Amino acid sequence: MGASGPATHPTGPAIRTVLGDIAPADLGICDAHDHLFLRSPQLPGQELDEAGPAAAELAAFRAAGGAAVVQWTPYGMGRGIAELPRLARESGIGIVTATGLHQAAHYAPEALERVHADLAGLFVAELTEGIGGSGGPRAGMIKVAGGFHSLDGHARHTMAAAAEAHHATGAVIGVHLELGTGALDVLDLLCGELGIPPGRVILGHLNRSPDLTVHRLAAEAGAYLAFDGPSRAHHATDWRLPDALAALADAGHGDRILLGGDTTAAGARSVNGGPGMPHLLRRLGPRLAHALGKDLVTRILTANPARAFAADWRWAATGS
Ligand SMILES: [Zn+2]
Repeated sequence: MGASGPATHPTGPAIRTVLGDIAPADLGICDAHDHLFLRSPQLPGQELDEAGPAAAELAAFRAAGGAAVVQWTPYGMGRGIAELPRLARESGIGIVTATGLHQAAHYAPEALERVHADLAGLFVAELTEGIGGSGGPRAGMIKVAGGFHSLDGHARHTMAAAAEAHHATGAVIGVHLELGTGALDVLDLLCGELGIPPGRVILGHLNRSPDLTVHRLAAEAGAYLAFDGPSRAHHATDWRLPDALAALADAGHGDRILLGGDTTAAGARSVNGGPGMPHLLRRLGPRLAHALGKDLVTRILTANPARAFAADWRWAATGS
């Protein structure tokens, strides 16, 4: 193990942070979907690419009571890998980062061409050896993306590679649902066709499509449901969040819910006057306590992510 290796080697399921593997019980209060670094041609001028503001946001999150952040930025979108271990050490916040691939629109075509043929090999290497080569921080989840009420060829290819990487490593798969849609198509593909246990899939952005029946069906299937925000772009649905979560809890699915901030632009950071990461604990948590009770909100912020992101890490070859 290099300097970035774990201080301890927990036996059993572990959460893979950029500083090494930790026991699920040590995760603490977790922002289960957010971004410290992010770059996309789809978001010109809004890049999250500086370590200083990322450090300030982590400090603000810690001051609000936070202990861990899962960054869902996948391969090739400026994950800030060189900065993450130092930021984790200096802030005291546990950071989990992702491998995986977003929609094709987030990449230059030639960048996709370079990795297209052996995506599963790339994902496995980043999960087990390290990002940017052996000894680098290791990814702790696989992020993929669907389309608006659909799955195009790129999404299917990427999800097949994610499934292969899951079977080889045990890593959980987090899915960007476009405007919150396509949840059941994703489960049909990942769990029905590709053999992923539903409990190893996290459906992201469901707050953006508050179809409570789809939420319940996805939870009944056994998947995790991630809700995030607030966001100016999704303000039209943000206010439905407490009712959507209460409906899930009433149906007995409180253990499937995850919460995150999904800060994707510099202006959304708390240190720039936005809600940012602290909002989750400063305002959303207390608001949800009215709908769900304080105990369930605490479990949603601690026990649920600890279970969702923990894996029985394996090193098996991908067979490709
Ligand atoms: Zn995100």
